[in-house]
Amino acid sequence: MQVFQDINPIRQFLKSARDRGHTIGFVPTMGALHKGHMSLIDASKNVNDITVCSIYINPTQFNNPSDLAKYPRMINADKNMLENAGCEVLFIPDDQIMYPGNQVVTMSFGYLEDIMEGKFRPGHFKGVGAVVAKLFHIVQPDNAYFGQKDFQQFMIIQQMVRDFFFDIHLNCMPIVREPDGLAMSSRNTRLSKEQRRKAPVIYQSLSMAGKNLSKGMSIAKVRKDIALLMEKNDIRLEYFEVVDSNTLKPLGNITKEGKVALCIAAYLGEIRLIDNLLLF
Ligand code: AMP
Repeated sequence: MQVFQDINPIRQFLKSARDRGHTIGFVPTMGALHKGHMSLIDASKNVNDITVCSIYINPTQFNNPSDLAKYPRMINADKNMLENAGCEVLFIPDDQIMYPGNQVVTMSFGYLEDIMEGKFRPGHFKGVGAVVAKLFHIVQPDNAYFGQKDFQQFMIIQQMVRDFFFDIHLNCMPIVREPDGLAMSSRNTRLSKEQRRKAPVIYQSLSMAGKNLSKGMSIAKVRKDIALLMEKNDIRLEYFEVVDSNTLKPLGNITKEGKVALCIAAYLGEIRLIDNLLLF
């Protein structure tokens, strides 16, 4: 695996690959890699000649300084996983490389960043948009791979790609889960034993909500049941939203015609986890 820290060397390497007719797949990450990330690498390897993974913990997308400070960092283990998966290129820039001067231009995503993650993590998506735009311009991939795990993030990036004519095909890959249903996340490594035992309740509550909504139960009743289940397990519910999965607009009721996303964010102690389920 070729490892690059600076922009020009990776650009030169990828340009000569492109000139030879090679296609490029890109998987942006913040490291502490797990099977969820590796499913994106595998998806990229399946259709691209060269797979590029980036590991960069982007400070501008953290609204909570302690979350940034405590974000797991394990670059050696990450490199091993990527080598074993056959990833061809790793890009690991630092803050000086990614934000060399005063960043003047910012991204706005309108309604898409006023709700859910955007509402509870002010500025988060401006940071995500900025870093993904920078990475897209550095790597210039044919295909880029993101997880449904961060569904709102995917929608934001999709909007950016559409609005600014990025010539990149986006792929949204299914959520990889632990055997007990917990969505894999780098933040799971920070859970205590007791918190880890309770964490699958987040997915259980989504599954229960999905079943009950499909059977015709009202969103209000489903919301109440979820709040109760969370409370019983010492999990602090931040939001549970039932939205149109094409627009992210909250739904008043469920009809079988439209696609529906159930999105949740909850805290176990100070660890914040998110998950979602697509219906229909
Ligand atoms: P992160 O390192 O958390 O920024 O995630 C990098 C990419 O991996 C994002 O596109 C995530 O949505 C995706 N991802 C994270 N967890 C999972 C998972 N459990 N299953 C599938 N994709 C995931």
